[in-house]
Amino acid sequence: MTGKRVWVAGHRGMVGAAVVRRLAEENCVVLTAGRAEVDLRRQAATESWMAAQQPDAVIVAAATVGGIYANDTRPAEFLYDNLMIEANIIGAAHQLGVVKLLFLGSSCIYPRMAPQPITEDALLTGPLEPTNEWYAVAKIAGIKMCQAYRRQYGCDFISAQPTNLYGPGDNFSLSQSHVIPALMAKAHNAKIAGAKSLEVWGTGTPKREFLYVDDLADALVFLLKNYSGSVQLNVGTGVDISIADLARLVCSVVGFEGELVFDASKPDGTPRKLLDVSRLNTLGWRAETELADGLRTTYAWFCDHYREAR
Ligand code: GDP
Repeated sequence: MTGKRVWVAGHRGMVGAAVVRRLAEENCVVLTAGRAEVDLRRQAATESWMAAQQPDAVIVAAATVGGIYANDTRPAEFLYDNLMIEANIIGAAHQLGVVKLLFLGSSCIYPRMAPQPITEDALLTGPLEPTNEWYAVAKIAGIKMCQAYRRQYGCDFISAQPTNLYGPGDNFSLSQSHVIPALMAKAHNAKIAGAKSLEVWGTGTPKREFLYVDDLADALVFLLKNYSGSVQLNVGTGVDISIADLARLVCSVVGFEGELVFDASKPDGTPRKLLDVSRLNTLGWRAETELADGLRTTYAWFCDHYREAR
């Protein structure tokens, strides 16, 4: 990557920011564009910015994202924004002769009832989880675009499917967030208010796998250097935890000692989502951060950024 111009699309998001941090260790030129500078949902703006910047490599971390509630209540934006962003960037990358492009999908692209742990072969073998099918359909289209440009034009466009992510820079707003930042913010507020209980959505029985965002960034740089294929590679830890156990762990990290109250009127989402990461492990990459350690670092970041945390 020495001397290469690498564009991190979506550098202000949790993932993009972690990739920028990781790329500082490489001898490359990191390109970024804020939303005010270029709206990636607009084709002309995206094409002219990319033509002016001439990136050698692109990491597509720009996306409209959110937790189970946001996905379920803003289906139009989750579909429209993500389709436009990926179509604009991938199409322009082909036109401009970008040498390597890495598109980020999500583990929710896999069928709701896929056998666990979920292998890459499970893609498009069954119906999606309804609470996030809009986001999933857009992300599947992005993966297919990478495959189509590879097949028709020989472009070295790859994709990676991270499992549920967390870490510094996450979105802690209760209506938009995923479960870890939501529980962390709720436990923090409950501790400060001296509350006796904490509300956890759903039954607590669903299981999820969580990857620390700096581990993901390391995996993405690894893939840029070492992977060139059409299969959308899974990126995860290979370990999952129930939402109830996760809630207990978050409470212990935050120092909240009250009771957990499960609100079964809120959606559980998919019952289990654990990725099979053997392909990535075989290539030579493995996640390193233990969940408890990652939660402690994330909580420290949250406390430092409490006022500005989204
Ligand atoms: P998902 O993996 O796409 O389902 O996304 P989330 O991270 O939003 O939710 C994961 C699981 O955590 C679901 O079963 C939620 O019901 C559960 N959960 C429990 N409490 C909360 C909360 O306060 N916020 C969110 N977003 N999820 C919660």
